[in-house]
Amino acid sequence: MPVISEEAYAIQYAARKMTEETAGGRAEVHAQVGINVAPCLQNCVFCSFAARNAIFRHSKAMPPEEVIERCLAFEGQGANAIYLMATANFPFEEFLRFGRQVREALQPDTVLIANIGDFDDEGAIALRKAGFNGIYHAIRLGEGAVTGIKPERRLQTVRAARRAGLLVGTCVEPVGPEHTLDELVEKTLLTREMRPVFSGAARRIAIPGTDLAGLGMVSEARMALILAVVRLAVGRGVSFNCTHEPNDIGAMAGANLFWAENGANPRDPEEKTENNRGYTVAKCREILREAGWELVTGPSRAFQTGCSG
Ligand code: SF4
Repeated sequence: MPVISEEAYAIQYAARKMTEETAGGRAEVHAQVGINVAPCLQNCVFCSFAARNAIFRHSKAMPPEEVIERCLAFEGQGANAIYLMATANFPFEEFLRFGRQVREALQPDTVLIANIGDFDDEGAIALRKAGFNGIYHAIRLGEGAVTGIKPERRLQTVRAARRAGLLVGTCVEPVGPEHTLDELVEKTLLTREMRPVFSGAARRIAIPGTDLAGLGMVSEARMALILAVVRLAVGRGVSFNCTHEPNDIGAMAGANLFWAENGANPRDPEEKTENNRGYTVAKCREILREAGWELVTGPSRAFQTGCSG
């Protein structure tokens, strides 16, 4: 439907009211540290790490002390959950070591989330033991066609995480102008079936020089309608509704979860996204406040009251 229509505004109003009810009128800011850059052979066309995009030709990980320092800074700035993100080819054991060190440094009740490649039951248990509370994982739009990973593999990871007691956050992403209504519906229903702690919708960012950049980007106005539809579709069992990157229109339409970012970022050709696309915790909080949300203080409620698990 047209973005500027009575129906589209009614949907966004209904989505906003639903999220206000399920989350008690509150919003959260989660914060992600991207701990490495590397050319990744999974070759997801939309990702700056895809080897085929030839943006990052070298592999480099942050020193553990720097990762800890960045996580502590995010915690001190009031982020409700801390995410560690690594490329899919980052050694799993090394990621666990980072996780354990960060867990030890953070407050015991600070929520720690892994945003990494696929793993099995053993990996899920190891993540739990390392101190992670959950994962972010998505079956992306075009999964298996514009990525080197089969959708079933992504789903197996989600199931393994749930079996190990890790909570799962997800999102319909990365939405581009080329995606059909059918695919958006299919992925929306898939996020609902995953019974996540949050869902939502995020657009694909056009990375200059990549194959998909020529297709352009969905406007924030249309994304607001899409995230509102996703919100209504997943229902009241999912308390929080995310969008990325943070924006005012999405927050008005019912998105109550944003991400601050530093370090590596799959939507950014810069090695340190804080110098380019990455938002700060303060900026995310300001956008949410301006849209009329109160902010959760302390550990994430999304990762405590959600229905995953
Ligand atoms: S999205 Fe993940 S799996 Fe895909 S290319 Fe980027 S780092 Fe690799």
